[in-house]
Amino acid sequence: MTEIARFAAWSDSFLHRYWEMNPGSALWEGYYKHDDVLPVPDAATREAEAIFLRENLKDLEGFDPATLDGAGKSDLAILKNRLARSLWYLEDFRQWQWDPSDYNVGSGFGIILNTDYKPLEERLQVISRRLDSVPAYYEAARENLTDPNLEHTALGLQQNRGALSLFTDRLPDVIASSSLPVSEKAEISEKIEKAKRALEHYIAWLEATEERLKKEGGRDFRIGAEVYEQKFAHDIVTGRSARELYELALTHRDELHIRMTGFTKTLWPKYLEGTPMPADDLVAVRQMIDHLSARHVEREGFIDEIRRHVPVITDFINEKGLVEIDPSRPLIVRETPLYQRGFSGASLSSPGPYNPTADSYYNVTPLDDYTEEEAESWLREYNHWILQILTIHEALPGHYTQLAYANKSPSLIKAIFGNGAMIEGWAVYTELMMLENGFGDHEPEMWLMYSKWVLRAVVNTILDYQIQVEGMEEDAAVEMMMVEAFQEDAEARGKWRRATVSQVQLTSYFSGFSEILALREEWKVLKGEDFDLREFHDKFLSYGNAPVMVIRELMLEEG
Ligand code: ZN
Ligand code: ZN
Repeated sequence: MTEIARFAAWSDSFLHRYWEMNPGSALWEGYYKHDDVLPVPDAATREAEAIFLRENLKDLEGFDPATLDGAGKSDLAILKNRLARSLWYLEDFRQWQWDPSDYNVGSGFGIILNTDYKPLEERLQVISRRLDSVPAYYEAARENLTDPNLEHTALGLQQNRGALSLFTDRLPDVIASSSLPVSEKAEISEKIEKAKRALEHYIAWLEATEERLKKEGGRDFRIGAEVYEQKFAHDIVTGRSARELYELALTHRDELHIRMTGFTKTLWPKYLEGTPMPADDLVAVRQMIDHLSARHVEREGFIDEIRRHVPVITDFINEKGLVEIDPSRPLIVRETPLYQRGFSGASLSSPGPYNPTADSYYNVTPLDDYTEEEAESWLREYNHWILQILTIHEALPGHYTQLAYANKSPSLIKAIFGNGAMIEGWAVYTELMMLENGFGDHEPEMWLMYSKWVLRAVVNTILDYQIQVEGMEEDAAVEMMMVEAFQEDAEARGKWRRATVSQVQLTSYFSGFSEILALREEWKVLKGEDFDLREFHDKFLSYGNAPVMVIRELMLEEG
């Protein structure tokens, strides 16, 4: 057996063992062999995981990259990084001790209930077996959480409250209307009742914890410079340090401010003739953005407008021939399920590589819970222009298109152990690419709003670093987002909350974007007159969700 074949066989066997160890993550990827297992997150489970990771890292050391082909080399690098990262999370980062939102059974049950991978009655039996572990699951969670912080406690509360509706409404309804025999229905209903009580108990415990932390204070949510650099290296996988990316972002912010001042000067006579233009450039840009932001849909029409954009954008991509869009893969715009709310306004749920023909969902969170004022602030932020850019980012040719490609990738390893910076970087890159190719008719209004939007990705990087490493506080962060990134209050406060419950993830947008753009320019020089944009996109995406620096190496090697 050649080394290439030996590595392929090892990878295949590894994945099966990996899913056995991580049945919850397997559901997200569309691997359902262990769908009825809900592991209890106790010390024994962690011990078994650590042994598993060490043994497999040792196996990987037995492969010499020089004996593998390009795809194998990158898979090997990705796996080594991924397992070392998991071990670091488990033994050094130890989120399981301080993050109550790490524990939530809602999404697993939600996937089994909502995904039609086998007949409903069989899925309900799977759910029935899984329900047995719920009480022990939440008991272990409470035991693990020896040092929770306030921010993650609040998030854990919100998300677990969202999960409760599965056990009080959704599951009982589905069971009642199913064709299961009466005796089985009664058995499952009893288990649901027990699971519901365990979840309510956890929620009550979190409520008490939140009260205590509010009074007495507790662990700081900030992770500090040293841990931040470590997490950045594990999560992003790039040649740069976190500090270097932060400094690059500062330069980019200044360049964008100069360009935005130019668009503002062009637009001023059209919209604000007679009003003197403020001497401070940033104040003038803000005034122009504020003026244009009044053009937005009504709160009730928010989701319908997004539904209307999808076919328009699809036609544009096809007419210009920018990247392949597979018409056999449906995209469904829906309201974000309750158990997934609390993190951002829009997101993409894509089918995993084991289930590539399942539907993709473009989740949009309705503004129902907002006051009039909050809704207005939100709608001005997602105004006429930015709402279109949002759909480019989340759906196509952004996340939906990229993830559909990744699922076609011959490498299951790359499709599964996706690099977040590549994924987010691609979505941010497509926004610029669409405008460069005439989306929005090269209007300065669209370019100004786009600049504001991409400035958000740049400022996300600055913000994350300043908050997590340099101790920035809420008011200063909100002011920076409003003055330097022209955001509205509601968006800025939401981003602050997000920056307190995640670390490094906010830098992935700008990190991946700047790397992809640099690679495109490098590729242009290399190809000269033969450069073809669509070919570059199709080739880039064909490598799956690998880190950009790994894709770059393979593209340059293959030519
Ligand atoms: Zn308005
Ligand atoms: Zn994104």
